[in-house]
Amino acid sequence: MTFWERIKQSLRNLMAGRQGVDQLSLALVWTGLGLYVLSALLGSGLLSLVSMAVYGYTLFRVFSRNTEKRSAENRRYLTRKNRMQTNAKQARTRFNNRKQYKYFRCPSCKAWLKLPRGAGVVTVTCGRCHNSFTQKG
Ligand SMILES: [Zn+2]
Repeated sequence: MTFWERIKQSLRNLMAGRQGVDQLSLALVWTGLGLYVLSALLGSGLLSLVSMAVYGYTLFRVFSRNTEKRSAENRRYLTRKNRMQTNAKQARTRFNNRKQYKYFRCPSCKAWLKLPRGAGVVTVTCGRCHNSFTQKG
């Protein structure tokens, strides 16, 4: 076995049964880096402590043997991230189309709905919860 094969083998042994790097850990690394840069810019000792704590937590997650719990955390993180990206995308679409459509929320289920501008006062039925209400377009 060559030197590098031995290193790879011992890394495999070290990481066996452990969580390893997942998407949440990567996000934490970037968060920690951002906090560290911010702490250096502001000269804030507290922020650099927080960034250290973020790195400590990241290492804990990567080497954790409780992979079930860590994977559940990662899934929650991905769900939340996905929802935020969808919300941001929809907000951009609403902003870009604001001249053609009036956007408003359903008063009962809060779903986003739209009417063409200048449609006048019309009765709207929500596609999600079938609640009917009058809305000015
Ligand atoms: Zn509704």
